[in-house]
Amino acid sequence: MPFPASVRDKLLLWCDRHCCLCKKACDVFIEVHHIDPAGGDNEENAIPLCFDCHGKVSHYDPRQPIGTKFRSDELKKRRDQVYEQFTAHLVPALKFEVTQRLANGHQRTLPDVGFSIVHLGDAPPVRAVVTLDAFIDGKLMNIPKTDTLYRGAIPWNLNPKQGVSGHFQISPASCQEGIDLRVGVQIEVHDCYDRVHSLLPVTYVHNYRANDWWLDPIGPSESTKRAEIWRSERNRLSAS
Ligand SMILES: [Zn+2]
Repeated sequence: MPFPASVRDKLLLWCDRHCCLCKKACDVFIEVHHIDPAGGDNEENAIPLCFDCHGKVSHYDPRQPIGTKFRSDELKKRRDQVYEQFTAHLVPALKFEVTQRLANGHQRTLPDVGFSIVHLGDAPPVRAVVTLDAFIDGKLMNIPKTDTLYRGAIPWNLNPKQGVSGHFQISPASCQEGIDLRVGVQIEVHDCYDRVHSLLPVTYVHNYRANDWWLDPIGPSESTKRAEIWRSERNRLSAS
């Protein structure tokens, strides 16, 4: 089956009609190839190629003694590299943070947690999908009905040089000294041509006495694991 026009049109925009293997500008001499013949007519299974590269990918004989066949994973990585080359300029620098600080110099009080995000620079408007996961003593404890804006359900519209601050609630069980409270942040940026650019995950760790957060530059699963090791080591030392 051919790819639907909506998928094909989007991919040709993302690569700016350049071949995703030899990177040649193709104009009309470009085709959208199925990476896996049985993988479906979806964007993940598609790669725009010039006629020459399409022939090489489709007809390479793996039994021949010279050359190296393109494998599916490599095709996808090379394709994504070309998409990135032609869409990176659509993604602004973003500044975001989990914070208890308010503009008037006061602080939010748990279980109320603040989050802000700012579109820096001159890139076009983007939509940011924000997912914040609360971990209490290493356990994922999101409030099921917490605001869907912070659960990845509704994108945030970010216009150039515009910032927005908001807040959400976490479990009241986290509001005491000695509790390990972390918030994992995952942000996906959707550019004006619907391509998704994922930022790397980070974790904010609450400091109860300062009532503010510090940034742990690793994802929440690694961050909670390291905290658990640190807690058991501290308990072992205090018991000895
Ligand atoms: Zn090519």
